[in-house]
Amino acid sequence: MSQIAFIGLGHMGLPMARNLLKAGHHLKVFDLLPAAIDELAKEGAQPASSALDAIAQADVVISMLPASRHVEGLYLGADGLLNALKTGTLVLECSTIAPQVARNVHHAAQERGIELLDAPVSGGTAGAAAGTLTFMVGGAAKVLAKARPLFEAMGRNIFHAGPEGAGQVAKVCNNQVLAVQMIATAEAMAMGVANGLEPVVLAEIMRQSSGGNWTLEKYNPWPGVMENAPASKGYSGGFMAELMAKDLGLAQETAQASGNSTPMGALALQLYRLLLKQGKGKQDFSVVQQLFTEQ
Ligand code: NAD
Repeated sequence: MSQIAFIGLGHMGLPMARNLLKAGHHLKVFDLLPAAIDELAKEGAQPASSALDAIAQADVVISMLPASRHVEGLYLGADGLLNALKTGTLVLECSTIAPQVARNVHHAAQERGIELLDAPVSGGTAGAAAGTLTFMVGGAAKVLAKARPLFEAMGRNIFHAGPEGAGQVAKVCNNQVLAVQMIATAEAMAMGVANGLEPVVLAEIMRQSSGGNWTLEKYNPWPGVMENAPASKGYSGGFMAELMAKDLGLAQETAQASGNSTPMGALALQLYRLLLKQGKGKQDFSVVQQLFTEQ
């Protein structure tokens, strides 16, 4: 079994690390928040006092951080982990970040003989807990072959998207679709309920009709429609609106770089920025429902 350093134990990282522990791996874990480290230490992980401490004996490093700047801060620069890792270490960088930043980290890793994959995920916190995440992997196929058993301990579908950064490109495409679907579902739910329909009835009709989509299947934004959805828990847990706004910004940058027109993604970004201005950035991204129900 591998000696794994797991860095970033938030909504996603903590359940992912837990599944690696359950699969019998040795984990040394670090987060800026000590409570997350303590929680995993109770379940058998070794607590680390810093990222450098976490990687001291590691063959594998897995990181799950909020955004590009955190990943650059962790790996690059004089104090970055890439300068401290031994040659041949395998790094699985699972955060959702800018494709160009992922490529920069890849190139810095290659120069130091470190094997790295960009491997952002889809499936939400429920998928992370159940070990059913989708991994979208960018990097060399032979490195993915080596990493596959680790991904399989945390996920169900492991896709090789292409070379360095390709996992991140796939991820921003996917999250742009997710945001547009969430907004479309939220505005339709509000319209139907305002016109006298029961939310549960409307949700089920659309779920089984041509408007059916992932948000209607798994993540309805109307409170009370799905018992386990963040909407029914005061929009807590799940995927923060500020992270969705970040991903929509990455999608716009990606479109800009290739000269693509993405009007739906642009509008979705504007609506999420509005939510952030209303102070709802820390709530789950399905809180976009409130744009259509509250004055
Ligand atoms: P989160 O904010 O809950 O967790 C991030 C964790 O990283 C926090 O605990 C934070 O303390 C820690 N952290 C930040 N900088 C650090 C550093 N330098 N060293 C150690 N720890 C550090 O975010 P999350 O929801 O777990 O998301 C993580 C990533 O996964 C993001 O890029 C997000 O876009 C992506 N993602 C999230 C979901 C979801 O449903 N939440 C789904 C798919 C992808």
